Amino acid sequence: MTMKKALLIVDLQNDFSPGGSLGIKEGNQIVPIINDLMDKMDLVITTQDWHPENSTHFENWPVHCVANTEGAKLNPGLNQEKIDQRTLKGTGSDDHGYSGFDATNISLKEYLEEQNVGSLYIVGLATDYCVRASALDACKLGYHTYVVTDAIAAVDLKEGDGRKALDEMYKAGCLLVESKDI
Ligand SMILES: [Zn+2]
Repeated sequence: MTMKKALLIVDLQNDFSPGGSLGIKEGNQIVPIINDLMDKMDLVITTQDWHPENSTHFENWPVHCVANTEGAKLNPGLNQEKIDQRTLKGTGSDDHGYSGFDATNISLKEYLEEQNVGSLYIVGLATDYCVRASALDACKLGYHTYVVTDAIAAVDLKEGDGRKALDEMYKAGCLLVESKDI
């Protein structure tokens, strides 16, 4: 049986897009690249930060992606018809939920096993937080993990954070690819 390829779209949400409460400048530029990649995959999975109004997470961050608000919605440019599975994370009052594998509406690990996924292609926001955490977990769980370098963007609170995160993912066994090579 052939193993499936899945696209894991991390936190492509309004609050992380330009104009959002934690807006990332390049947040819209990666959207068409991600839409194009959907056709090359067997499965499309999204993650969303889905925080309660009162979360200890907001001691570290401006308030963002509160469940059921406009800011928590997926970027309207994303082709949402092709999403096979949505996952929600950071849903508890003490839950940072940086990794897609911390999702609480389903177990992402079990879902990937049921679907016979062998490779994960990780795209979205942000390189230095949730992309990083999701990719490191995926590697640890033994998936062929590809980080698509032109379909991610960094917060870069400190200059170079994004580059450092890429280096860390690479050293952990993630493969760095460009969308044109997929
Ligand atoms: Zn968050």
